[in-house]
Amino acid sequence: MDRSAAAPGALEGSDVGSQKDRVVTEEEWLQKWEMGNIGFHKEQGHPLLQKYLNVLLNGRSGLRIFFPLCGKAVEMKWLVDMGHSVVGVEVSEQALKEFFAEHSLPYHEEPVPEISGAKKLQSTSGNISLYCCSIYDLSSSIVGKFDGVWDRGALVAVNPCDRERYVSLMITLMEKNSSYLLVTVSYDPNKHKGPPFYVPESEIKSLFGNHYEIKCLQKVDDFSDRHRQWGLDYFLEVLYVLRFVA
Ligand code: SAH
Repeated sequence: MDRSAAAPGALEGSDVGSQKDRVVTEEEWLQKWEMGNIGFHKEQGHPLLQKYLNVLLNGRSGLRIFFPLCGKAVEMKWLVDMGHSVVGVEVSEQALKEFFAEHSLPYHEEPVPEISGAKKLQSTSGNISLYCCSIYDLSSSIVGKFDGVWDRGALVAVNPCDRERYVSLMITLMEKNSSYLLVTVSYDPNKHKGPPFYVPESEIKSLFGNHYEIKCLQKVDDFSDRHRQWGLDYFLEVLYVLRFVA
């Protein structure tokens, strides 16, 4: 079945309904993890990363790949198994500990001297470093720069009022020839308050446009019972690749 076609009537405009003022606090995210309210987590990993892996890697090996707002994304394990190294950031320590436990990976913890209260959980092998803090506490002097980014459930989870801050930070973390895979979602934002938040293509262009060439690779119908319960009648995932141009 071709799942790439847009749903009929899919919203392509820039109407973001009442979402622009919505704020989800760090405390609320921590509670979601405590309650096991993590419907966003994909146990089997994301098919779009599998399909477009070559776009992220671009023929390169031994990359440093960043997972903003990483949760316990299993794709981190995929990439280290291919010989890349991964850095993630996540406010929930529970999420990070579950990641290491579920993949039976030994790790150690250390404080991050530059960030008060933050911890780094690092696999014993050294190729997975997960920072337990807010992404806004990071900088390239702490984590270095990256050759690739897998942004799924990240920009769309950032509070709409923080998007510019998030994107400005991400741009400072990218190497010049990096590839940035961005997954957004598309649905009628008047029917669900988010997260995930609806980020229209026009906003992706205004957020990243000055620095990146932006190409939409695929739109996938991802509608499920979960979305029906939210009161939606369509839900798409939209994959972009962003490449640094200036
Ligand atoms: N990218 C993951 C998780 C998506 S859900 C995946 O694909 O499964 C968004 C995650 O961001 C949650 O785990 C939440 O705890 C975390 N988060 C929210 N705000 C954050 C912030 N400011 N800094 C770091 N992590 C944050």
